[in-house]
Amino acid sequence: MEHRPVAPATDVAIVGAGILGLAVAREVLRRRPATRLTVFEREPEIATHQTGHNSGVVHAGIYYLPDSLKAQLCVRGARALYRFCEEHRIRFERCGKVIVALAESELPALDELERRGRANGVDGLSRLDPAGLAEIEPNVRGVAALHSPETAIVDYPAVAAALAAEITAAGAEIATGCGVSALSERGSQVLVEHERGQTCADRVIACAGAWSDRLARSSGAPADPRIVPFRGAYMRLRPERRGLVNGLVYPVPNPELPFLGIHVTRHVSGDVLLGPSALLVGARDAYRLRRVNPRDLAETLVWPGTARVMRRWWRTGVQELRFAASKRAFVEEAARYVPGLRLDDVVPGPAGIRAQAVSRDGRLVDDFVFSETSRTLHVRNAPSPGATSALAIAEHIVDRADAVFGWAVT
Ligand SMILES: Cc1cc2nc3c(=O)[nH]c(=O)nc-3n(C[C@H](O)[C@H](O)[C@H](O)COP(=O)(O)OP(=O)(O)OC[C@H]3O[C@@H](n4cnc5c(N)ncnc54)[C@H](O)[C@@H]3O)c2cc1C
Repeated sequence: MEHRPVAPATDVAIVGAGILGLAVAREVLRRRPATRLTVFEREPEIATHQTGHNSGVVHAGIYYLPDSLKAQLCVRGARALYRFCEEHRIRFERCGKVIVALAESELPALDELERRGRANGVDGLSRLDPAGLAEIEPNVRGVAALHSPETAIVDYPAVAAALAAEITAAGAEIATGCGVSALSERGSQVLVEHERGQTCADRVIACAGAWSDRLARSSGAPADPRIVPFRGAYMRLRPERRGLVNGLVYPVPNPELPFLGIHVTRHVSGDVLLGPSALLVGARDAYRLRRVNPRDLAETLVWPGTARVMRRWWRTGVQELRFAASKRAFVEEAARYVPGLRLDDVVPGPAGIRAQAVSRDGRLVDDFVFSETSRTLHVRNAPSPGATSALAIAEHIVDRADAVFGWAVT
Protein backbone atom coordinates (compact mmCIF):
# COMPACT_ATOMS: atom_id res chain seq x y z
CA MET A 1 0.00 0.00 0.00
CA GLU A 2 1.34 3.44 -0.90
CA HIS A 3 1.77 5.77 2.07
CA ARG A 4 1.63 9.49 1.61
CA PRO A 5 4.04 11.62 3.65
CA VAL A 6 2.65 13.08 6.85
CA ALA A 7 2.79 16.83 7.55
CA PRO A 8 6.04 17.67 9.40
CA ALA A 9 4.22 20.22 11.58
CA THR A 10 0.69 20.46 12.88
CA ASP A 11 -1.24 22.40 15.52
CA VAL A 12 -2.94 19.38 17.07
CA ALA A 13 -1.96 15.72 16.74
CA ILE A 14 -4.42 13.08 17.78
CA VAL A 15 -3.29 9.51 18.30
CA GLY A 16 -5.87 6.83 17.54
CA ALA A 17 -8.68 6.75 14.99
CA GLY A 18 -11.17 4.92 17.14
CA ILE A 19 -14.43 6.62 17.96
CA LEU A 20 -12.80 8.76 20.67
CA GLY A 21 -9.89 10.09 18.62
CA LEU A 22 -12.23 10.92 15.75
CA ALA A 23 -14.82 12.55 18.02
CA VAL A 24 -12.12 14.65 19.68
CA ALA A 25 -10.78 15.71 16.26
CA ARG A 26 -14.29 16.79 15.24
CA GLU A 27 -14.77 18.75 18.47
CA VAL A 28 -11.44 20.59 18.07
CA LEU A 29 -12.35 21.53 14.49
CA ARG A 30 -15.87 22.61 15.43
CA ARG A 31 -14.44 25.04 17.97
CA ARG A 32 -11.47 26.20 15.87
CA PRO A 33 -12.00 25.46 12.18
CA ALA A 34 -8.60 26.88 11.16
CA THR A 35 -6.66 24.33 13.27
CA ARG A 36 -4.16 22.16 11.37
CA LEU A 37 -4.94 18.70 12.69
CA THR A 38 -3.48 15.25 12.04
CA VAL A 39 -4.90 11.97 13.33
CA PHE A 40 -2.37 9.11 13.54
CA GLU A 41 -3.67 5.55 13.37
CA ARG A 42 -1.43 2.48 13.56
CA GLU A 43 -3.82 0.20 11.65
CA PRO A 44 -4.53 0.45 7.91
CA GLU A 45 -8.20 1.30 8.65
CA ILE A 46 -10.03 3.40 11.24
CA ALA A 47 -12.17 1.79 14.00
CA THR A 48 -10.22 -1.47 13.93
CA HIS A 49 -10.13 -2.20 17.66
CA GLN A 50 -12.74 -1.58 20.39
CA THR A 51 -14.86 0.71 18.18
CA GLY A 52 -15.26 -2.08 15.63
CA HIS A 53 -15.58 -4.95 18.12
CA ASN A 54 -18.22 -4.11 20.70
CA SER A 55 -21.84 -4.88 21.55
CA GLY A 56 -23.19 -1.92 19.59
CA VAL A 57 -25.36 -0.73 22.47
CA VAL A 58 -26.19 2.91 23.13
CA HIS A 59 -26.31 2.72 26.91
CA ALA A 60 -28.88 4.85 28.70
CA GLY A 61 -26.74 5.51 31.83
CA ILE A 62 -28.19 3.11 34.40
CA TYR A 63 -25.18 1.42 35.95
CA TYR A 64 -22.91 4.29 36.90
CA LEU A 65 -22.41 6.00 40.26
CA PRO A 66 -24.30 9.29 40.04
CA ASP A 67 -21.28 11.52 40.61
CA SER A 68 -19.06 9.66 38.14
CA LEU A 69 -17.84 10.87 34.77
CA LYS A 70 -19.46 7.79 33.24
CA ALA A 71 -22.88 8.85 34.55
CA GLN A 72 -22.59 12.42 33.24
CA LEU A 73 -20.96 11.63 29.92
CA CYS A 74 -23.03 8.55 29.06
CA VAL A 75 -26.39 10.30 29.43
CA ARG A 76 -25.17 13.40 27.56
CA GLY A 77 -23.26 11.32 25.02
CA ALA A 78 -26.26 9.15 24.15
CA ARG A 79 -28.38 12.23 23.42
CA ALA A 80 -25.62 13.76 21.29
CA LEU A 81 -25.13 10.44 19.49
CA TYR A 82 -28.83 10.22 18.54
CA ARG A 83 -28.66 13.76 17.10
CA PHE A 84 -25.46 12.89 15.20
CA CYS A 85 -27.04 9.72 13.78
CA GLU A 86 -30.14 11.65 12.67
CA GLU A 87 -27.99 14.31 10.97
CA HIS A 88 -25.86 11.68 9.20
CA ARG A 89 -28.71 9.23 8.49
CA ILE A 90 -27.07 6.43 10.50
CA ARG A 91 -29.54 3.79 11.54
CA PHE A 92 -30.16 3.25 15.21
CA GLU A 93 -32.98 1.39 16.89
CA ARG A 94 -34.43 2.02 20.35
CA CYS A 95 -35.08 -1.67 20.92
CA GLY A 96 -35.08 -1.34 24.74
CA LYS A 97 -33.39 -3.39 27.40
CA VAL A 98 -34.32 -5.42 30.44
CA ILE A 99 -32.00 -6.13 33.37
CA VAL A 100 -33.29 -9.33 34.93
CA ALA A 101 -33.04 -10.43 38.56
CA LEU A 102 -33.04 -14.22 38.69
CA ALA A 103 -33.58 -14.60 42.43
CA GLU A 104 -34.83 -12.61 45.42
CA SER A 105 -31.20 -12.26 46.52
CA GLU A 106 -30.54 -10.03 43.47
CA LEU A 107 -33.33 -7.56 44.28
CA PRO A 108 -31.21 -5.19 46.41
CA ALA A 109 -28.73 -4.88 43.52
CA LEU A 110 -31.60 -4.28 41.08
CA ASP A 111 -32.95 -1.59 43.46
CA GLU A 112 -29.56 0.06 43.45
CA LEU A 113 -29.43 0.06 39.64
CA GLU A 114 -32.90 1.64 39.55
CA ARG A 115 -31.79 4.28 42.07
CA ARG A 116 -28.68 5.09 40.03
CA GLY A 117 -30.60 5.19 36.76
CA ARG A 118 -33.15 7.63 38.18
CA ALA A 119 -30.42 9.77 39.77
CA ASN A 120 -28.60 9.86 36.42
CA GLY A 121 -31.71 11.11 34.62
CA VAL A 122 -32.34 8.01 32.50
CA ASP A 123 -35.67 8.47 30.70
CA GLY A 124 -38.52 5.96 30.84
CA LEU A 125 -37.15 3.50 33.46
CA SER A 126 -39.73 1.19 34.96
CA ARG A 127 -39.80 -1.83 37.23
CA LEU A 128 -41.37 -5.06 35.93
CA ASP A 129 -42.84 -8.04 37.77
CA PRO A 130 -42.62 -11.47 36.09
CA ALA A 131 -45.86 -10.86 34.15
CA GLY A 132 -44.63 -7.45 32.94
CA LEU A 133 -41.32 -9.01 31.91
CA ALA A 134 -43.16 -11.76 29.99
CA GLU A 135 -45.09 -9.09 28.03
CA ILE A 136 -41.86 -7.49 26.83
CA GLU A 137 -39.71 -10.61 26.59
CA PRO A 138 -41.91 -13.75 26.52
CA ASN A 139 -38.88 -16.09 26.49
CA VAL A 140 -37.07 -14.51 29.44
CA ARG A 141 -37.46 -15.66 33.04
CA GLY A 142 -36.83 -13.68 36.23
CA VAL A 143 -38.36 -12.62 39.53
CA ALA A 144 -38.22 -8.92 38.57
CA ALA A 145 -36.62 -6.67 35.97
CA LEU A 146 -35.71 -3.10 35.21
CA HIS A 147 -36.92 -1.93 31.82
CA SER A 148 -35.12 0.81 29.89
CA PRO A 149 -37.11 1.47 26.70
CA GLU A 150 -34.62 4.16 25.57
CA THR A 151 -31.59 1.85 25.34
CA ALA A 152 -30.70 1.49 21.67
CA ILE A 153 -28.40 -0.23 19.19
CA VAL A 154 -26.26 1.40 16.54
CA ASP A 155 -23.45 0.59 14.12
CA TYR A 156 -20.40 2.22 15.77
CA PRO A 157 -18.07 1.71 12.79
CA ALA A 158 -20.63 3.67 10.71
CA VAL A 159 -20.53 6.44 13.33
CA ALA A 160 -16.71 6.43 13.16
CA ALA A 161 -16.82 6.59 9.34
CA ALA A 162 -19.16 9.61 9.49
CA LEU A 163 -16.88 11.34 12.00
CA ALA A 164 -13.87 10.64 9.75
CA ALA A 165 -15.69 12.04 6.72
CA GLU A 166 -16.59 15.19 8.65
CA ILE A 167 -13.07 15.88 9.84
CA THR A 168 -11.40 15.23 6.51
CA ALA A 169 -13.97 17.53 4.85
CA ALA A 170 -12.89 20.14 7.42
CA GLY A 171 -9.27 19.80 6.24
CA ALA A 172 -7.80 17.34 8.76
CA GLU A 173 -5.47 14.55 7.75
CA ILE A 174 -6.05 10.97 8.92
CA ALA A 175 -2.76 9.09 8.55
CA THR A 176 -3.63 5.39 8.70
CA GLY A 177 -0.95 2.71 8.85
CA CYS A 178 1.11 5.22 10.82
CA GLY A 179 1.70 4.08 14.39
CA VAL A 180 3.17 6.55 16.86
CA SER A 181 6.14 5.12 18.77
CA ALA A 182 6.86 7.99 21.17
CA LEU A 183 5.72 11.45 22.23
CA SER A 184 8.39 13.72 23.66
CA GLU A 185 7.73 17.20 24.93
CA ARG A 186 10.41 19.65 23.81
CA GLY A 187 9.92 23.26 24.88
CA SER A 188 6.79 24.60 23.25
CA GLN A 189 6.32 21.55 21.01
CA VAL A 190 5.70 17.83 21.19
CA LEU A 191 7.75 15.62 18.92
CA VAL A 192 5.56 12.85 17.54
CA GLU A 193 7.70 9.97 16.32
CA HIS A 194 5.79 7.76 13.92
CA GLU A 195 6.18 5.15 11.21
CA ARG A 196 6.68 7.76 8.47
CA GLY A 197 9.05 10.07 10.31
CA GLN A 198 8.47 12.85 12.82
CA THR A 199 5.87 15.56 13.23
CA CYS A 200 6.09 18.58 15.53
CA ALA A 201 2.78 19.35 17.18
CA ASP A 202 1.75 22.18 19.47
CA ARG A 203 -0.57 19.89 21.42
CA VAL A 204 -1.29 16.17 21.43
CA ILE A 205 -4.39 14.28 22.51
CA ALA A 206 -3.78 10.54 22.79
CA CYS A 207 -6.82 8.28 22.47
CA ALA A 208 -4.86 5.07 21.98
CA GLY A 209 -7.20 2.52 23.57
CA ALA A 210 -5.36 -0.67 24.48
CA TRP A 211 -1.96 0.98 23.94
CA SER A 212 -2.69 4.20 25.81
CA ASP A 213 -0.50 3.50 28.84
CA ARG A 214 2.59 2.97 26.68
CA LEU A 215 2.25 6.30 24.93
CA ALA A 216 1.49 8.04 28.20
CA ARG A 217 4.70 6.69 29.75
CA SER A 218 6.70 7.75 26.69
CA SER A 219 5.66 11.36 27.30
CA GLY A 220 6.51 11.27 31.00
CA ALA A 221 3.10 10.46 32.46
CA PRO A 222 2.88 8.09 35.45
CA ALA A 223 2.92 4.33 34.81
CA ASP A 224 -0.22 3.92 36.92
CA PRO A 225 -2.75 2.74 35.72
CA ARG A 226 -1.70 0.05 33.26
CA ILE A 227 -3.87 -1.37 30.49
CA VAL A 228 -4.63 -5.05 30.96
CA PRO A 229 -6.46 -6.67 28.04
CA PHE A 230 -9.71 -8.50 28.80
CA ARG A 231 -11.07 -10.46 25.87
CA GLY A 232 -14.81 -10.43 25.35
CA ALA A 233 -15.97 -13.40 23.27
CA TYR A 234 -19.44 -13.71 21.78
CA MET A 235 -21.63 -16.54 20.51
CA ARG A 236 -24.01 -15.87 17.62
CA LEU A 237 -27.61 -17.12 17.57
CA ARG A 238 -28.58 -19.05 14.47
CA PRO A 239 -30.83 -16.83 12.30
CA GLU A 240 -33.89 -19.04 12.86
CA ARG A 241 -33.58 -18.54 16.65
CA ARG A 242 -33.25 -14.75 16.66
CA GLY A 243 -36.89 -14.48 17.74
CA LEU A 244 -35.92 -15.69 21.25
CA VAL A 245 -35.49 -12.06 22.30
CA ASN A 246 -37.15 -8.83 21.24
CA GLY A 247 -34.55 -6.43 22.58
CA LEU A 248 -31.52 -6.53 24.87
CA VAL A 249 -31.47 -8.83 27.91
CA TYR A 250 -28.92 -8.39 30.71
CA PRO A 251 -28.36 -10.11 34.06
CA VAL A 252 -27.83 -8.10 37.26
CA PRO A 253 -24.06 -7.54 37.20
CA ASN A 254 -21.61 -7.90 40.05
CA PRO A 255 -21.43 -4.26 41.27
CA GLU A 256 -17.74 -4.66 42.12
CA LEU A 257 -16.71 -5.48 38.55
CA PRO A 258 -16.78 -3.11 35.57
CA PHE A 259 -18.22 -5.87 33.32
CA LEU A 260 -21.95 -6.39 32.74
CA GLY A 261 -22.12 -10.20 32.59
CA ILE A 262 -23.03 -12.35 29.59
CA HIS A 263 -26.02 -10.67 27.97
CA VAL A 264 -28.06 -11.08 24.81
CA THR A 265 -27.88 -8.23 22.33
CA ARG A 266 -29.50 -7.56 18.99
CA HIS A 267 -27.41 -5.78 16.39
CA VAL A 268 -28.55 -3.40 13.67
CA SER A 269 -27.36 -6.02 11.15
CA GLY A 270 -30.05 -8.38 12.50
CA ASP A 271 -27.57 -10.59 14.32
CA VAL A 272 -28.23 -11.60 17.92
CA LEU A 273 -25.12 -12.15 20.03
CA LEU A 274 -24.54 -13.70 23.44
CA GLY A 275 -21.64 -12.29 25.43
CA PRO A 276 -19.17 -10.82 25.97
CA SER A 277 -17.11 -12.90 28.36
CA ALA A 278 -14.21 -11.16 30.16
CA LEU A 279 -11.01 -13.20 30.10
CA LEU A 280 -7.58 -11.77 30.88
CA VAL A 281 -5.46 -12.56 27.80
CA GLY A 282 -1.86 -12.45 26.58
CA ALA A 283 -2.11 -9.80 23.87
CA ARG A 284 -3.77 -6.44 23.43
CA ASP A 285 -5.10 -7.68 20.10
CA ALA A 286 -5.97 -11.27 21.08
CA TYR A 287 -8.89 -11.58 18.68
CA ARG A 288 -7.80 -15.20 18.40
CA LEU A 289 -7.81 -16.68 21.89
CA ARG A 290 -4.39 -18.29 21.56
CA ARG A 291 -2.62 -15.15 20.41
CA VAL A 292 0.17 -14.10 22.76
CA ASN A 293 2.36 -11.04 22.33
CA PRO A 294 5.45 -11.47 24.55
CA ARG A 295 5.73 -7.74 25.32
CA ASP A 296 2.02 -7.41 26.17
CA LEU A 297 2.11 -10.52 28.32
CA ALA A 298 5.26 -9.43 30.15
CA GLU A 299 3.82 -5.96 30.84
CA THR A 300 0.63 -7.51 32.21
CA LEU A 301 2.47 -10.00 34.42
CA VAL A 302 5.05 -7.63 35.91
CA TRP A 303 2.39 -5.07 36.81
CA PRO A 304 1.74 -5.46 40.58
CA GLY A 305 -1.99 -4.75 40.08
CA THR A 306 -2.41 -7.85 37.90
CA ALA A 307 -1.47 -10.31 40.65
CA ARG A 308 -3.74 -8.47 43.07
CA VAL A 309 -6.65 -8.66 40.61
CA MET A 310 -5.99 -12.36 40.05
CA ARG A 311 -5.85 -13.08 43.78
CA ARG A 312 -9.05 -11.20 44.48
CA TRP A 313 -11.04 -12.44 41.48
CA TRP A 314 -9.67 -15.98 41.00
CA ARG A 315 -13.15 -17.56 41.17
CA THR A 316 -14.41 -15.22 38.44
CA GLY A 317 -11.24 -16.04 36.47
CA VAL A 318 -11.94 -19.78 36.69
CA GLN A 319 -15.51 -19.16 35.54
CA GLU A 320 -14.22 -17.12 32.57
CA LEU A 321 -11.82 -19.95 31.64
CA ARG A 322 -14.83 -22.29 31.61
CA PHE A 323 -16.65 -19.94 29.22
CA ALA A 324 -13.59 -19.90 26.96
CA ALA A 325 -13.18 -23.69 27.03
CA SER A 326 -16.79 -24.81 26.87
CA LYS A 327 -19.60 -23.67 24.61
CA ARG A 328 -21.97 -25.48 26.96
CA ALA A 329 -20.87 -23.38 29.97
CA PHE A 330 -21.29 -20.19 27.93
CA VAL A 331 -24.79 -21.13 26.76
CA GLU A 332 -25.85 -22.31 30.22
CA GLU A 333 -24.93 -18.90 31.61
CA ALA A 334 -27.37 -17.12 29.26
CA ALA A 335 -29.95 -19.92 29.58
CA ARG A 336 -30.32 -18.99 33.26
CA TYR A 337 -32.56 -16.14 32.10
CA VAL A 338 -33.45 -17.33 28.54
CA PRO A 339 -34.38 -20.93 29.44
CA GLY A 340 -35.38 -21.89 25.89
CA LEU A 341 -31.81 -21.42 24.70
CA ARG A 342 -30.18 -24.68 23.51
CA LEU A 343 -26.60 -25.63 22.77
CA ASP A 344 -27.19 -25.98 19.04
CA ASP A 345 -28.88 -22.55 18.82
CA VAL A 346 -25.48 -20.83 18.77
CA VAL A 347 -22.30 -20.76 16.72
CA PRO A 348 -19.02 -19.05 17.65
CA GLY A 349 -19.14 -15.30 17.14
CA PRO A 350 -16.68 -12.40 17.11
CA ALA A 351 -14.52 -11.13 19.98
CA GLY A 352 -13.43 -7.73 21.21
CA ILE A 353 -10.59 -6.74 23.54
CA ARG A 354 -11.35 -4.34 26.35
CA ALA A 355 -8.65 -1.80 27.17
CA GLN A 356 -9.21 -2.05 30.91
CA ALA A 357 -7.05 0.04 33.22
CA VAL A 358 -5.79 -1.73 36.34
CA SER A 359 -4.27 0.34 39.13
CA ARG A 360 -1.06 -0.60 40.90
CA ASP A 361 -3.08 -1.49 44.01
CA GLY A 362 -5.18 -3.99 42.03
CA ARG A 363 -8.38 -2.08 41.25
CA LEU A 364 -10.15 -2.62 37.93
CA VAL A 365 -10.57 1.11 37.33
CA ASP A 366 -14.24 1.78 36.78
CA ASP A 367 -14.59 5.40 35.74
CA PHE A 368 -13.20 7.18 32.70
CA VAL A 369 -9.72 8.52 33.43
CA PHE A 370 -7.86 11.33 31.66
CA SER A 371 -4.50 12.83 32.58
CA GLU A 372 -2.18 15.50 31.25
CA THR A 373 1.46 16.29 30.94
CA SER A 374 2.27 19.87 29.94
CA ARG A 375 1.27 19.63 26.25
CA THR A 376 -0.31 16.21 25.98
CA LEU A 377 -3.65 14.92 27.19
CA HIS A 378 -4.03 11.17 27.58
CA VAL A 379 -7.17 9.04 27.74
CA ARG A 380 -6.11 6.44 30.33
CA ASN A 381 -9.35 4.47 30.75
CA ALA A 382 -12.33 4.58 28.41
CA PRO A 383 -14.09 1.22 28.55
CA SER A 384 -17.83 0.74 28.06
CA PRO A 385 -19.89 2.98 27.77
CA GLY A 386 -17.06 4.80 25.97
CA ALA A 387 -18.63 4.45 22.52
CA THR A 388 -22.02 5.74 23.71
CA SER A 389 -20.30 8.62 25.49
CA ALA A 390 -17.81 9.51 22.73
CA LEU A 391 -19.27 12.86 21.67
CA ALA A 392 -19.63 14.02 25.28
CA ILE A 393 -16.14 12.70 26.17
CA ALA A 394 -14.83 14.75 23.25
CA GLU A 395 -16.42 17.93 24.66
CA HIS A 396 -15.05 17.11 28.09
CA ILE A 397 -11.53 16.52 26.73
CA VAL A 398 -11.45 19.68 24.66
CA ASP A 399 -12.80 21.74 27.62
CA ARG A 400 -10.08 20.22 29.75
CA ALA A 401 -7.39 20.84 27.13
CA ASP A 402 -8.57 24.47 26.90
CA ALA A 403 -8.22 24.85 30.64
CA VAL A 404 -4.94 22.97 31.09
CA PHE A 405 -3.10 24.07 27.97
CA GLY A 406 -4.55 27.57 28.00
CA TRP A 407 -5.95 27.32 24.50
CA ALA A 408 -7.85 30.43 23.56
CA VAL A 409 -11.35 29.44 22.50
CA THR A 410 -12.17 31.39 19.34
C1 LIG B 1 -16.32 -6.43 23.94
C2 LIG B 1 -16.67 -4.99 24.08
C3 LIG B 1 -18.01 -4.58 24.15
C4 LIG B 1 -18.33 -3.23 24.30
N1 LIG B 1 -19.63 -2.84 24.22
C5 LIG B 1 -19.93 -1.51 24.24
C6 LIG B 1 -21.25 -1.07 24.04
O1 LIG B 1 -22.16 -1.84 23.75
N2 LIG B 1 -21.51 0.26 24.14
C7 LIG B 1 -20.52 1.17 24.43
O2 LIG B 1 -20.81 2.36 24.55
N3 LIG B 1 -19.24 0.78 24.57
C8 LIG B 1 -18.93 -0.53 24.47
N4 LIG B 1 -17.62 -0.94 24.58
C9 LIG B 1 -16.59 0.06 24.84
C10 LIG B 1 -16.25 0.85 23.58
O3 LIG B 1 -16.05 0.01 22.48
C11 LIG B 1 -15.02 1.70 23.87
O4 LIG B 1 -15.25 2.45 25.03
C12 LIG B 1 -14.68 2.66 22.74
O5 LIG B 1 -14.67 2.02 21.50
C13 LIG B 1 -13.33 3.31 23.02
O6 LIG B 1 -12.95 3.99 21.86
P1 LIG B 1 -11.43 4.37 21.63
O7 LIG B 1 -11.40 5.24 20.44
O8 LIG B 1 -10.87 4.87 22.92
O9 LIG B 1 -10.71 2.96 21.44
P2 LIG B 1 -10.36 2.11 20.13
O10 LIG B 1 -11.55 1.93 19.27
O11 LIG B 1 -9.70 0.88 20.64
O12 LIG B 1 -9.36 3.03 19.36
C14 LIG B 1 -8.02 3.26 19.76
C15 LIG B 1 -7.24 3.41 18.48
O13 LIG B 1 -5.93 3.86 18.77
C16 LIG B 1 -5.07 3.23 17.85
N5 LIG B 1 -3.71 3.29 18.41
C17 LIG B 1 -3.28 2.74 19.56
N6 LIG B 1 -1.98 3.00 19.76
C18 LIG B 1 -1.58 3.74 18.71
C19 LIG B 1 -0.33 4.30 18.35
N7 LIG B 1 0.75 4.17 19.14
N8 LIG B 1 -0.25 4.99 17.20
C20 LIG B 1 -1.34 5.15 16.40
N9 LIG B 1 -2.54 4.62 16.69
C21 LIG B 1 -2.67 3.93 17.84
C22 LIG B 1 -5.62 1.83 17.74
O14 LIG B 1 -5.17 1.14 16.60
C23 LIG B 1 -7.11 2.10 17.73
O15 LIG B 1 -7.62 2.26 16.42
C24 LIG B 1 -17.28 -2.27 24.42
C25 LIG B 1 -15.94 -2.68 24.33
C26 LIG B 1 -15.63 -4.01 24.13
C27 LIG B 1 -14.20 -4.40 23.97
